[in-house]
Amino acid sequence: METIINVDDVSFSYGTQTEQALKHISLGVNKGDFIGIIGPSGAGKSTLAACLSGAVPHHYTGTFFGSVTVDGNDTCEVTLTDVSQIVGSVLQDIDTQMVASVVEDEMLFGLENFGVPHDQIEQRVSETLETVGISDLRDREIATLSGGQKQKVAIAAILAMRPRVLVLDEPTAALDPASSTLVFETLREANRALGITIVVVEQKVALLSEYCNRVLVLNHGEIALQGEPHEVFAHADELRAIGVDCPRVTRIFNSLEVDGLASGTPCLDVDEAERLISGIVDPAHASSDIQAPAGSPHAPSLRPHAKDAEPVLTFDHVEFAYPNGGAASTTST
Ligand code: ADP
Repeated sequence: METIINVDDVSFSYGTQTEQALKHISLGVNKGDFIGIIGPSGAGKSTLAACLSGAVPHHYTGTFFGSVTVDGNDTCEVTLTDVSQIVGSVLQDIDTQMVASVVEDEMLFGLENFGVPHDQIEQRVSETLETVGISDLRDREIATLSGGQKQKVAIAAILAMRPRVLVLDEPTAALDPASSTLVFETLREANRALGITIVVVEQKVALLSEYCNRVLVLNHGEIALQGEPHEVFAHADELRAIGVDCPRVTRIFNSLEVDGLASGTPCLDVDEAERLISGIVDPAHASSDIQAPAGSPHAPSLRPHAKDAEPVLTFDHVEFAYPNGGAASTTST
């Protein structure tokens, strides 16, 4: 696997502070990775994102040890402009990042400043708006957009410059669940269709577990855990001690495991949980990898009547919509 960013034993403290925001961080970001960074407040997540984008040490100065190389260039030895040719970043506060009042102008601003030849600009704008799924917003005033739409515009404006890595700092912080998922769908599209490496600081564990191939847990400026989502979220007790939740379905798995109803790899999404619970209720649906252990006091074979029992909860054509008409779901069971 080819590495695009290499973080080698980085420690950093802001300004003249003695307390280090990052301590001895080493990390390789591979081409095509979709990495999620999580951790409690003050863990150093934004600082690490700033190191990857070159904002540390160019914008935020302080005491910096170790090295960050981006496509072989040491970020301390090249300019921030050089780094941003490779790494695009979307800041936590996108309102401060946006410079124009209309979506198209926001896209043009970056492209013109980056010196993209004029005959390529129109194609870049229309292709990127299409990839992000916001072609219809091209002429809209940014101030009239929803939080999710603004976030997509910020991402599109950076993607138009064709970075090889996109670093985002809590892009869904101000968004409802449905808009947050749409932002991650956009990132997945950029990752898969355009081959862009994604590094995202994110608090919503369910999104990290579903979309990322690697999760990095920071605590007190150090890497506490890292690995594939399944590996990381298997450490429920350690994560809880740090102050990081597991996805809700993983917590359900953990409760079932405590009761002897499940064993093996924890589930990370609703489909896996559905298979697990179906397997418990009705052994005919048991999946091979996630199921109640044989001999468990609650094993399906000891509760043979469960599948024939009266339902305890019934949904009959239930519909729900948020007041702004955002997300709606329909269920009938
Ligand atoms: P997180 O993103 O995990 O909340 P940060 O990277 O923002 O953590 O912060 C890590 C540490 O660095 C904290 O102690 C924070 O107070 C400090 N810090 C962050 N940004 C600055 C800054 N611009 N100037 C001084 N200290 C900062």
